[in-house]
Amino acid sequence: MTIHNSISELIGGTPLVKLNRLPQAAGVKATIAAKIEYLNPGGSSKDRIAARIIDAAEHFGQLEPGGVIVEPTSGNTGVGLAMVAQQRGYRAIFTMPDKVSEAKRAVLRAYGAEVVVTPTDAGPGDPRSYYDVAEQLAKKIPGAFRPNQYDNPNGPLSHYYTTGPEIWQATDHAVTHFVAGIGTGGTISGTGRYLKEISNGRVRVVGADPEGSIYSAADKTDVHQYDIEGVGEDFYPKAFDRDIVDEIVQIGDAEAFETTRRLAAEESLLVGGSSGMAVAAAIRYAIEHDLDERQLVVVLLPDSGRGYLEKIFNDDWMRENGYGDVVERTNKPSL
Ligand code: PMP
Repeated sequence: MTIHNSISELIGGTPLVKLNRLPQAAGVKATIAAKIEYLNPGGSSKDRIAARIIDAAEHFGQLEPGGVIVEPTSGNTGVGLAMVAQQRGYRAIFTMPDKVSEAKRAVLRAYGAEVVVTPTDAGPGDPRSYYDVAEQLAKKIPGAFRPNQYDNPNGPLSHYYTTGPEIWQATDHAVTHFVAGIGTGGTISGTGRYLKEISNGRVRVVGADPEGSIYSAADKTDVHQYDIEGVGEDFYPKAFDRDIVDEIVQIGDAEAFETTRRLAAEESLLVGGSSGMAVAAAIRYAIEHDLDERQLVVVLLPDSGRGYLEKIFNDDWMRENGYGDVVERTNKPSL
């Protein structure tokens, strides 16, 4: 019998799937395989960090029975934490600005978490900002624990202990390149470190970064707003280890969204914008470095496209935001 004791046992162990059209259409000779992280039970790679961060907090006594998890997040980390909190009987409170869609709040509430909405116009340092409200709640509530995904070493460690070994085993040690977007930096730092150590430095680690983010900006004046969600930063988090990354490929919003739409239309992979960005970076890297048939590139796709139906997959939103030409090109898949 194969009956799992709980849904959280199914975190990790996601499959690798070869991309069959997009790289070939671009003239890539190397194999590009995608790691499909939306098959985690909470729908993203963030389930991995949630499980390890909570395990560690329990182990070190930062989280005790009846404890409360408090984190400023609206995205995938919230879902992972809400799921693990619910499984283990903790209360979870998330703070987020009111610009975050009602659908995202509803997901967190569905898992039993509480959502505190703060005004979007309250910026960093304002006591009403979602970050400050989380800090105040954590101080006020007895037994509160702040996972702090940007600084918590268990984020990268979860990828070091799970994502990295999974890729090494699934490729029979043949992986030559690992490509991932950089948000907190946990995925690329943890997975990359494992793959470098186990391959004696053979595996190359390539970061993908939105145009406007600090990781690939030439200087401060290049740091600006962009539309890709979940990746890029305007500061350096502790979870990111720059020494692990051999090269960072910068991808603009339009190219990321075009690749995202093509992944759904041509590879049947309904994934989010940061996945499109990572695949665009893998393809560009493979072409620019003239990778050949002997190379095996693994690219990590963090979440599902379901969370972006109102944006990247909505033609009106795309046109209103200046991506009309992307809509025209991708509504006629080149099959
Ligand atoms: N893509 C999405 C959609 C994400 O939510 C995140 C996490 N912020 C990432 C990519 C980047 O992962 P990491 O934080 O591990 O760098």
